[in-house]
Amino acid sequence: MNHHVHKADINNSSTSLTESIQDLFSQYGFMPHGHCYLWKPLLISIHVASDALIGLAYVSISLTLYSLVKKANISFNRIVLCFGVFIGACGLTHFMEIWNLWYADYWLAGFIKVITAIASVGTGIYLYKMRHSLVEIALSAKISEERGLELEKLHQTNSAELLRVRDEFATMADHISQLSWMADQTGHIFWYNQRWYDYTGSNLEEMAGWGWEKVHDPIELKRVIKSWGHSLATGQVWEDTFPLKGKDGKFRWFLSRAMPIKDEHGKILRWFGTNTDIEDQRNNQIKLKNLADILKQALISRDEFLSIASHELKTPLTTIKLQSQWQKRLVETQDEKAYEKERINQYVDEIDSMVNKLVRIVDDMLDISRIRSGNLNISKEESDLSAIVESTLARMNRQFEMAGYKSPSFRGEAVRGTWDTMRMEQVVQNLLTNAIKYGNKGPVSVEVKNLGDKALLSVKDSGIGIPKDSLERIFKRFERAVDRNEVSGLGLGLYITEQILEAHGGRIWVESEFNKGAHFFVELPLIHSRN
Ligand code: ADP
Repeated sequence: MNHHVHKADINNSSTSLTESIQDLFSQYGFMPHGHCYLWKPLLISIHVASDALIGLAYVSISLTLYSLVKKANISFNRIVLCFGVFIGACGLTHFMEIWNLWYADYWLAGFIKVITAIASVGTGIYLYKMRHSLVEIALSAKISEERGLELEKLHQTNSAELLRVRDEFATMADHISQLSWMADQTGHIFWYNQRWYDYTGSNLEEMAGWGWEKVHDPIELKRVIKSWGHSLATGQVWEDTFPLKGKDGKFRWFLSRAMPIKDEHGKILRWFGTNTDIEDQRNNQIKLKNLADILKQALISRDEFLSIASHELKTPLTTIKLQSQWQKRLVETQDEKAYEKERINQYVDEIDSMVNKLVRIVDDMLDISRIRSGNLNISKEESDLSAIVESTLARMNRQFEMAGYKSPSFRGEAVRGTWDTMRMEQVVQNLLTNAIKYGNKGPVSVEVKNLGDKALLSVKDSGIGIPKDSLERIFKRFERAVDRNEVSGLGLGLYITEQILEAHGGRIWVESEFNKGAHFFVELPLIHSRN
């Protein structure tokens, strides 16, 4: 630059520091630079405009550099500082050019130029020194960019793969036989498979709202929520069985399991759950259990029956044995009593009664096995029921007498029908035997009525009677309304009686009150269609 100044004593060495600083800001009568341009407005304008633009550009570049460094969080190192000062100082020299067009602060301008020169040279040297590391930085930036591109490509491929896997998973989940669902780590279920919707008839919105109440059995719900909550809290696999309501409103039982899906640090990301329909297995299990219970009960009944039956058989056998042993001893000792007519009669009566008892027990047992195998043979013929009753009564007269009863009263109308005479005798005999066993030695009356199309037989005693709650039960197999030790019996007589009557199309019932005697009724059609 060409300056035209000039004061003579510029180089005065005795000038003090204060004076130097004062010098820096004094113009010493220098002429402003505008004179050099002869104040030609166009020339001045060109210089002002260019310098202003260059200065502004420099300043804005250094400011931008500063904000970039701040934003990118790059450590504010020396090279950046050098560049900043260098560019900023360059900007200032241009502003000084404008200033000096009018004010002639050449000392100040020179000083700023010195700073600019130092910054420029410093930056140049520094840049030269740093050339290797800068090449490395540039190279690593290039590699980073390439890696970034590769990563982006990989990400795209992964996303496509993820979408494909997700679609495949959804298709598979929709086609498995179980209902399935996914929940986040808080237990919120955000996905169900199609089978769930098909079974429950709901959709995701409904399930998110009041779904649990809709599909769960209210009795089980509280427990299910508790067990699910426990798994969520502990991260343990969830397993529970409970019913779920289908869209038809019916409940079916499901075995439900949920597995936690974890990340590589073991943190639960979500839960994958399934509900397997176990309704049929459960029903089969219940059926099997019932069957096992029935079998168990049957075994208990069989054992009970064996013990009662052996007891029932043993009692008459013991009496027969004792009586015959006693008679044998009398004969052996040539005791006269052995041949007394009355004693022999009593002895024969007792043996006969015991044998009859044995025969009845064995007959009953045979009948039970016949009934079970459906072989209770009925051979019907026409006969009069009153006649059957009369002859049975006559046959049992001695039994009543021996048991301390008066002969039963009998009123009978002639009533002919088609039935198995022997079986009818068995029916009458069963009812009369019971009247003896449970009649408390009170009066017994028997009646036969002709009702036109049916016959009605009734046997009434004045004995212990039957409690109300046992009136129907006593007709079932082995069922008794008395204690086994009070009165002996197998609880089969009335069961067999009812079976015989059913085979004739008839029926039996009893009217009684506890301790007020029992009144048994037998109703029989006169002509049975299945003749
Ligand atoms: P069992 O007499 O061998 O017990 P039954 O089948 O003949 O078998 O009778 C079943 C039960 O009905 C009896 O155990 C008894 O409790 C009751 N029962 C039958 N007949 C009478 C009756 N006339 N009075 C009171 N109870 C009776």
